[in-house]
Amino acid sequence: MSITLTILGCGNSEGTPSIGNNWAECDPSEPKNRRLRPSVAVQSREATLIIDTGPDFKEQVNAHNINQIDAIFYTHPHGDHINGIDELRVWSKLNKTSIDVYGLDETLTDIKKRFDYHFIEKSPLYPAVLNAHVISSFAQEMTIADISFIPFLQDHGTCQSLGFRFGDIAYSTDLVDLSNDSIEILKGIKTWIVDGAGNNWNENPAHLSLERVVELNKQVGAEQVYITHLTRYMDYQTLMGSLPEGFAPAYDGLVLKN
Ligand SMILES: [Zn+2]
Repeated sequence: MSITLTILGCGNSEGTPSIGNNWAECDPSEPKNRRLRPSVAVQSREATLIIDTGPDFKEQVNAHNINQIDAIFYTHPHGDHINGIDELRVWSKLNKTSIDVYGLDETLTDIKKRFDYHFIEKSPLYPAVLNAHVISSFAQEMTIADISFIPFLQDHGTCQSLGFRFGDIAYSTDLVDLSNDSIEILKGIKTWIVDGAGNNWNENPAHLSLERVVELNKQVGAEQVYITHLTRYMDYQTLMGSLPEGFAPAYDGLVLKN
């Protein structure tokens, strides 16, 4: 299986710049500092999977000319990963199809509570457009079309989030810790895209610090680590100059292949 993983957004919940053109410590003249909310596209010869539909989802799909969506995966139900969900109704109408969405039971329960009108028909004018699929097993490979992957659990402080391994690439956004079981699933990857938004915080309760990412990667063993969920206090060039070898900040539009 060969896949292409594209970072559609590597910003944190506020993006960079945040509203009000606030760049904080990021250099506005560096294009890689312009970051949309977290999302990635995983594409193969047959299929396109999207992980998370945040507030910038429409802009991301249009910028990358994505014209096929086979499934949406939700890592967890926080707004920066969910709040573009209404675009899926427009997509459904355009493509005359319903859309399969996957996530943890608690994630889908939360999303259904807030966006019930996408899952149940409220009136013939607004048909249900999303089909919910609970992910409940974590050490096993799942396959959608020709894309195989292993979902794994992550500790996000206030809730659990899902990470995904696609061959030797893994995506881990929004976590503060990993269990030994999840570390075992990650062992053997070459490339790890991982949350580092806990940078500049003393014991961030929901996100990994860069020191902790380096520490965890001693067990995971990825050759290349891309830091994601970047805050506007994390300037691209400053990070490039200070991270250890094999570590780099992600940027919107970064394309990885295996
Ligand atoms: Zn987030």
